[in-house]
Amino acid sequence: MGVEGLPQSATGQTALFTGYNAPKILGRHMTGFPTASLRPYLLEKSILRILKEHGYKATLLNSYSKEYLEKINSPRGMRLQSASSLAQKATQDPFFTIEDYIAGRSLYMDLTNWFLRAQGYKLPMVNPKINGRKLAKLARAYDFVIFEYFFTDKAGHSQSFAASKRIIAHIDGFLEGIWEELDPQLQTIIVATDHGNLEDLSTNLHTPNPVATILYGEFASKLHSKIAKLYDIPRAIYEIFSLPFDENFFPQKKAFL
Ligand SMILES: [Zn+2]
Repeated sequence: MGVEGLPQSATGQTALFTGYNAPKILGRHMTGFPTASLRPYLLEKSILRILKEHGYKATLLNSYSKEYLEKINSPRGMRLQSASSLAQKATQDPFFTIEDYIAGRSLYMDLTNWFLRAQGYKLPMVNPKINGRKLAKLARAYDFVIFEYFFTDKAGHSQSFAASKRIIAHIDGFLEGIWEELDPQLQTIIVATDHGNLEDLSTNLHTPNPVATILYGEFASKLHSKIAKLYDIPRAIYEIFSLPFDENFFPQKKAFL
């Protein structure tokens, strides 16, 4: 990305969800949630919003608890929002809730219900493969969906081999389910990440390692030659949709609220 230092979430995710080189714009890598200088990129140029503006059906498939949604909609809530939830907020469409997840309309971030159960939801454990198949099925009703998973990052920070092994098994099962259900003639999946971490448990920090991008399906070979950096991913998707990318976007002051 052309900026010294270890990659971080706020800048990496903004690049992934908007196509702008967020670390370069800020001159540094920013951890945690996007601050006022990055939020306008997500609120005005989130890939979900741009696709919606051009008549496409696009959504974040993650589900959220009522408590989380109340928190992010509170007066100070903007500061507590991840890049992905800002990208969805930019569409002005509602977020999926836990009720949506239970009804089969969306996905939850833990892939197996282990985290939901720890929060007190009386749900059975589910094989992550089932949720992978569900993602591929749900995605057919949309032109574009995002699903975010971050327990890989948590496991990497924990430096726990056992936790990392468990989380990798969840991801493996989830991807296996997607691969089984996805129709490669009609659907394309891009598996991407905002930074390295889990691949090196000798450190509790993110790593400077290049990250893998996995492509499969209809547009995989077209996308392959276009993606070298995180911010290339939305740009390559816009090319598939024959949409222009606004290279010269600069947020207006009012968007810095
Ligand atoms: Zn992290």
